[in-house]
Amino acid sequence: MFDLVLDLLIMLIVITGFVFVIVDSISWIIQFVIHRRWYRTAKSPPEQPEKKHPQDDVERHVRVVGEWMCYAAGMSYRVNFQVEDDAHIRAWIDFSDWTIRITKGFYNDCRSEDELAAVLAHEIGHLAIKIGKKSGSGSRIDQEYKADQLAASYLSNAGYDPNALARQLWRHTVYDLRVGDPDFLNRQGLTHPPFIKRMVAANSAVRLLPQTS
Ligand SMILES: [Zn+2]
Repeated sequence: MFDLVLDLLIMLIVITGFVFVIVDSISWIIQFVIHRRWYRTAKSPPEQPEKKHPQDDVERHVRVVGEWMCYAAGMSYRVNFQVEDDAHIRAWIDFSDWTIRITKGFYNDCRSEDELAAVLAHEIGHLAIKIGKKSGSGSRIDQEYKADQLAASYLSNAGYDPNALARQLWRHTVYDLRVGDPDFLNRQGLTHPPFIKRMVAANSAVRLLPQTS
């Protein structure tokens, strides 16, 4: 009798696991369907940014630059862009609603539209990695380098200066120095590698870009 209960319990656990995996996969597929941008196939480019930074309408500016970067990245899924009213310097992608969020602090920290485009391009890079993720694509840290590498090529495709990425990373290194961070060269255990290491990698990625002029 006890054996039977135990068997049933194990079966239940296994089935629950399967159901969870199936539901999770289905919801991921539905996300793709929802965010698929059919009109992209009609090759209608989005509005071209004005290359003016900063702008009065921050929300609109981020959206226009973001959509232009998605176009340059060949992204065929709809991505939303949102500005968070927060003074901290942060940008991230929310995979729950395919939204790239940037704080007002980060927007204001950008010295040019090229730098804004670089921030958004890095996040679009994360999405591209996630979409293309079938063969195990490395650690979280590796993905950061990969996102920077993708960002460099997207910036170049979009007509922005791909060096904007490294310029920004350099400034952030200086911020870390300024607040007396003794660990700025070798941050362990964080999700992002140190800015200075990303900067070196970003410079290498820019060197490897096909020369356009
Ligand atoms: Zn990242």
